[in-house]
Amino acid sequence: MSETDALARLAPSDGANAHLIDGQLITGNRFFEVVNPATGRAFALCPDASQFELDKAVAAARRAFPAWGALGFARRRELIFELADRIAAAADELAPLLTSEHGKPLEQAKLELSLSAHHMKQLASLELPDELLRDDARGRVELRYHPLGVVGAIAPWNFPVALAMHKVAQALYTGNTLVLKPSPFTPLTTLAVGRLAADLLPPGVLNLVAGGNDLGAWMTAHEDIDKISFTGSVATGKRVLAAAAGTLKRVTLELGGNDATLVLEDADLDLAAAGIARSGFFNCGQICMAIKRVYVAESVRDDLLEKLVAKVSALKVGVGTEPDTDMGPIQNAVQFEKVKAYLEDAIGRPGAEVLTGGRVRGGEGYFIEPTIIAGLGEDAPLVREEQFGPVLPVLTFTSVDEAIARANDTRFGLGASVWSRDEARARAVAGQLMAGTVWINRHGLNESDVPFGGMKESGYGREHGVLGIRAYQELQVVSRPSS
Ligand code: NAD
Repeated sequence: MSETDALARLAPSDGANAHLIDGQLITGNRFFEVVNPATGRAFALCPDASQFELDKAVAAARRAFPAWGALGFARRRELIFELADRIAAAADELAPLLTSEHGKPLEQAKLELSLSAHHMKQLASLELPDELLRDDARGRVELRYHPLGVVGAIAPWNFPVALAMHKVAQALYTGNTLVLKPSPFTPLTTLAVGRLAADLLPPGVLNLVAGGNDLGAWMTAHEDIDKISFTGSVATGKRVLAAAAGTLKRVTLELGGNDATLVLEDADLDLAAAGIARSGFFNCGQICMAIKRVYVAESVRDDLLEKLVAKVSALKVGVGTEPDTDMGPIQNAVQFEKVKAYLEDAIGRPGAEVLTGGRVRGGEGYFIEPTIIAGLGEDAPLVREEQFGPVLPVLTFTSVDEAIARANDTRFGLGASVWSRDEARARAVAGQLMAGTVWINRHGLNESDVPFGGMKESGYGREHGVLGIRAYQELQVVSRPSS
């Protein structure tokens, strides 16, 4: 059978790989290929939504909005919990699909699915009451929070299901209806969640449409979408913000990062090495808030590197379906070429020292060895830009003030961390790092009840926690004279 025939057989004729529009599973007549990054070959076809199908999804969401908005938090919470339970129950069944389209090891795919369900429940458990600002001689002033209407959500490929489901929970719990677009690199598991939701939620409340970048652009300019919740790169985030201006949509942008971690000379080096290895290489380094630059005090450099290199060189790279794989391939060809270019440039620089890894695996698939490089200057692209891959630069410092200045010398401001046994000192350093989240003696924890987002070009607004979820609501002041 030719590859085209094989793809035709995988065409979504049986309700698999379908958009969810107005409660119906719809395939349309346009498709694009989804590639398995472990082989570099297409393994499935995904429906490709037209502008007409997007309009149908938005109209359905608009029709569903009044009843869903009026339903109340308690009932919406029940339905989100039920969807979360269905996702958790389907985790074993869906994980192989997530591994095929993303590349991540099977256990990590299961983890993403079960954590998605967990976070949905956490988000739909937040209390979001209206508030009494004051009731005194000057009058009574209330703060009331209303749903916005139709939300458009646009997701990236690194945690395709989790990042999409965070948006589903936040938008729906607050009484909005939703049109969600997964990344064209990883649409299939998200669409499979649509099948789980189809007979659960009222038609039009949750709409899933797959497609390319054009579909995202149509959403950001759509006249009947009230808010865009976007997670992706800085470059696309800027386009989203510009396009949303035409209709003055509310916009939340969760963008890229170039997180620095500072290892002070009094750090617990075992803890730091384990934390850096986990944060820098989990998901093949493809995490917005991964550690992407290590600054270590000169006096403990060798000790830290010995421990870090031991951990990173023990990671097994391979196909996600093999049972002992720790790290799969880079998710797509474009990203693979980008990380390769950062790696080749870094290796060629005077003074660069590859401490482990450094090679691209030949043969099929997009595999790069987990790599640690020392001896680079601040001007190396691997240090200055967001590599979003398993190649980590380690730099040294002699004064903490200098390390803080270097960590802050970036247009990014998503996360940062500091490792020290001295709590007061660590907190003082944390206060000087210009990042939306600063962790002390850990890095990269994502909790749904804690606001998350970036300073500077890493973001616009916050998601998660009461503060973040309020961005899915419109504030109304109700004011009257004192009685
Ligand atoms: P990307 O910006 O290329 O794509 C993200 C989404 O935007 C995709 O669904 C894509 O189809 C869509 N899109 C592309 N062009 C568009 C346009 N003009 N208008 C509207 N939508 C458009 O990002 P990516 O490569 O998928 O994801 C990786 C990036 O995401 C990294 O920079 C990473 O740091 C960032 N990220 C940030 C967070 C966070 O919470 N801050 C979380 C995960 C990933």
